[in-house]
Amino acid sequence: MENSNDLFKNNPENSMNLTLEQKKNKQLAEHLFPEELPNIESVFERYPKRELPKDAMVTRIAPSPTGFMHIGGIYMALISERFARQTNGVYYLRIEDTDKKREIEGARKIITESLHKFGLDPDEGENINGVERGIYGPYKQSERKGIYKSFIKHLIEIGRAYPCFCNEEELEVMRKMQEELKVRPGYYGVWAKYRDANEKKVEEMLKQNKPYAVRFKSLGNNTNTFIHNDIIKGPLELPENDLDVVIMKSGGLPTYHLAHAVDDYFMGTTHVLRGDEWVSSIPLHYELFKALDFKCPEYGHIAPINKIDESGGKRKLSKRKDPEANVSFYEENGYPEIAVVEYLMNLANSDFEDWRKSNPDKPLTEFQLSFKRLSTSAGPLFDKIKLHDITKEIIAKMRAEELYKKVLDWSLKYDPEFREILEKDSEYWIKVFSIERGGSKPRKDIAMWSEVKEAFSFFIKEKFIRPDWSNFTSILSPDEIKNIINQYNEVFSFDDLTEKWMEKIKQISAIFGFAPDTKTFKKNRDSYRGHVGEIAQIIRFAITGRIQTPDLYQIMQVLGEPECKKRLALK
Ligand code: GLU
Repeated sequence: MENSNDLFKNNPENSMNLTLEQKKNKQLAEHLFPEELPNIESVFERYPKRELPKDAMVTRIAPSPTGFMHIGGIYMALISERFARQTNGVYYLRIEDTDKKREIEGARKIITESLHKFGLDPDEGENINGVERGIYGPYKQSERKGIYKSFIKHLIEIGRAYPCFCNEEELEVMRKMQEELKVRPGYYGVWAKYRDANEKKVEEMLKQNKPYAVRFKSLGNNTNTFIHNDIIKGPLELPENDLDVVIMKSGGLPTYHLAHAVDDYFMGTTHVLRGDEWVSSIPLHYELFKALDFKCPEYGHIAPINKIDESGGKRKLSKRKDPEANVSFYEENGYPEIAVVEYLMNLANSDFEDWRKSNPDKPLTEFQLSFKRLSTSAGPLFDKIKLHDITKEIIAKMRAEELYKKVLDWSLKYDPEFREILEKDSEYWIKVFSIERGGSKPRKDIAMWSEVKEAFSFFIKEKFIRPDWSNFTSILSPDEIKNIINQYNEVFSFDDLTEKWMEKIKQISAIFGFAPDTKTFKKNRDSYRGHVGEIAQIIRFAITGRIQTPDLYQIMQVLGEPECKKRLALK
């Protein structure tokens, strides 16, 4: 630190109108920030007010590049994106990378790619190609250090911030004392050691090059309360802030609080939608905005996605314990992103489900998300069954070609062997996926791409193994079953249309004493051993090795004559 000797000397250049106190603050600020910084007027000029329609919302997501993308982050991005787009506003991405200890290489890419996959590319900020768009940048906090410092310096100049030389150990001792005395923890009031530190002492510490953080000087009184109108949680009565929180860490980087105020103000955020762990920081943020003379944005605090855990209790979806917390889980398992987004919309606004029922074919962007319907405190519950209902519904509506393409894409990374099989005969597989697809009641049995291979495995001709009949329960003896398959094989003709195909199975049923349909069977139970369904089941099992499949006639048509004959031929 240079010039510390002169630190508190009166400088004749200073304006005559300044009080002694003001002069000292100014000198301290100059001393702590000798480098050239953007002057604050130029910052105001650099970030003009956004010209947008009156009710347009400017929202953002502000993840830290920690290498982990939580599904809750996508949930919040979706909510932020929807409100901005619904109001013809702007939704942008800001990378909050001031905590260098937590930063992971490649983490920004994980963020931008995840947003892209879920259709949530921002209007401004870094995009999937690593390129920044927008005039309110840089959108990476580590590139905004100068701007933060200008405002930290300004707060020192106006007497609303000061250096604090407490090290970790001292703060720990203080915390323990507070615990023993059973008083509120934190750096406030009498506990704020450097708040009114003697100038000589400060000078001394600076001379010794002692590391320091810069703290905000709060003027609040913790026994007073005020009402914060949260756009999601409604009115909340909160105590005023009285904590002198750190706004600049000893390395020169700002803390979240300061960066949030500066960035959201200059980037023109109208609505800060963020996790509800930040509610307790509201009093501080109000005070900080006021001290900086910035207009406060609206705040909406979003309750986290919860789950019922093993013990039956409710808890937040946890990064460590729950695989479904990580966005990569959805990719690995092959959930169509659009279906996950639909599911998240359900979690956000419960009336989305009714809207979807009345508007089955509309894009979800036509649904109007509302703040009132967002969970206030409890937080929505993650429910895999519901997620699967939605993904099945969406996959059922896809055309066979689309499904083929999606499974092909997914299998490239997650099941190369299946991809090879699919690629070998695209026409065949599209026919496979066409079974019971289209029409008003498509089959809804696939929830994710990783289920496709197993669901359709009996179509993989080279891998088909003869079914194990010991798994088949029937009132018919093994000899009778063999006999049925033999007789069917003789009459089976690939060119038969459905009716004829069915007729032949009925004929065999009659030979073995089974009714031609369930109705006849129910009327005359004593005259029959069972009904045609049981005979068809035998053929189904011979052809597919399963007792439950989509339409058997269609399956046989897709498999083709030689394959059907082969499967019906007994060794
Ligand atoms: N970086 C903060 C976080 O990840 C952002 C909070 C906010 O949206 O303001 O929690």
